[in-house]
Amino acid sequence: MQVEKLESWVKEHKKPLIISGPCSVETKEQFFTTIEQLAGTGVHFIRGGIWKPRTRPGTFEGIGKSGLSWIKEAKALYQVEIATEVASPKHAELALEAGIGLLWIGARTTVNPFHVQEIAESLKGIDIPVFIKNPINPDLSLWKGALERFSKAGIKKLGAIHRGFDSFQKTKFRNVPLWQIPIELKSEFPNLPLICDPSHIAGRSDLIHEISQKALDLNYDGLMIESHCSPETALSDAKQQVTPKDLADILGRLEPRDATKSDTAFINHLEIIREQIDQADREILEAIATRMNLVEKIGEYKKENNVAIFQLSRWKEIFRTRPEWAKALNLDADFIKELYRFIHQQSVQKQTGIYKEEDQEVDLD
Ligand code: PEP
Ligand code: MN
Repeated sequence: MQVEKLESWVKEHKKPLIISGPCSVETKEQFFTTIEQLAGTGVHFIRGGIWKPRTRPGTFEGIGKSGLSWIKEAKALYQVEIATEVASPKHAELALEAGIGLLWIGARTTVNPFHVQEIAESLKGIDIPVFIKNPINPDLSLWKGALERFSKAGIKKLGAIHRGFDSFQKTKFRNVPLWQIPIELKSEFPNLPLICDPSHIAGRSDLIHEISQKALDLNYDGLMIESHCSPETALSDAKQQVTPKDLADILGRLEPRDATKSDTAFINHLEIIREQIDQADREILEAIATRMNLVEKIGEYKKENNVAIFQLSRWKEIFRTRPEWAKALNLDADFIKELYRFIHQQSVQKQTGIYKEEDQEVDLD
């Protein structure tokens, strides 16, 4: 996939790229006041949702077409570039006519390859940046697929927005970040600009700084943060929007990180620690291999004695003791529980294999 580096298409804009403005454009006054208050905060693109893909009907679904004239007017009056979401070729056509500076595809659109393909084809030949939000579900291929469709349509100023993923589990986030998914995306497409949308990950304004800092720590290229002149009265996403003043405070407290350092002392020290990590990983793998050999032994023994593979009391004991041992070693108990879920799954699979092998032998006799 061919994409241009962010530095080559965002003129004079060093990392991080900042996109901020209201979740939804509601009234001319609200939009213009927010833009005025954002002056001097270092925002590169003003965000303004015109069409709002809401999960449930009956909520504010965006001002629609009638808000487009405010985009034109604001652009001329404040000399700003404006970004909006499009969910159909018609939206794209209207947004381009209004002089939009950046488009993004929302999480609910990325999940649908037909819509993605139609929008991508309708944008052939445009020169403005197009960002693709991750799909609602944690499916990296779907995200990559959408990016590839735009890339195939010749869009070179292409980027990805990480807005978190839907989850059944109750967490402090509105959408769980699952940072490993965007990291995997970035490792496959190193030139692809990746920005974070902490507002939709958080769902609440007090987490925005923490998530934004984490994104910068992970070398993200920018942030899209929802801001509103009066968040408490917002018609959509009221809890997660911040005032332009709070945005300035959040941005001011962020610590930028260098992608890497080239001085020899740093590189040498990094290498020493990496060698130690390699050694620790070898030891982990050897310990897992030892455990799996024991699993094989116990599987054969259970089979000989005609005992079921899964023993509930033992399973409970493992999931009680390992997190306890982990805590004593200063390890995160939830992480270790998750790890043991995989180990246990593999252990059951291995034993099932042993039972099957012997069954086959019996069948052959
Ligand atoms: C939005 O950016 O307002 C939006 C609807 O976000 P998402 O597509 O991430 O849900
Ligand atoms: Mn929103």
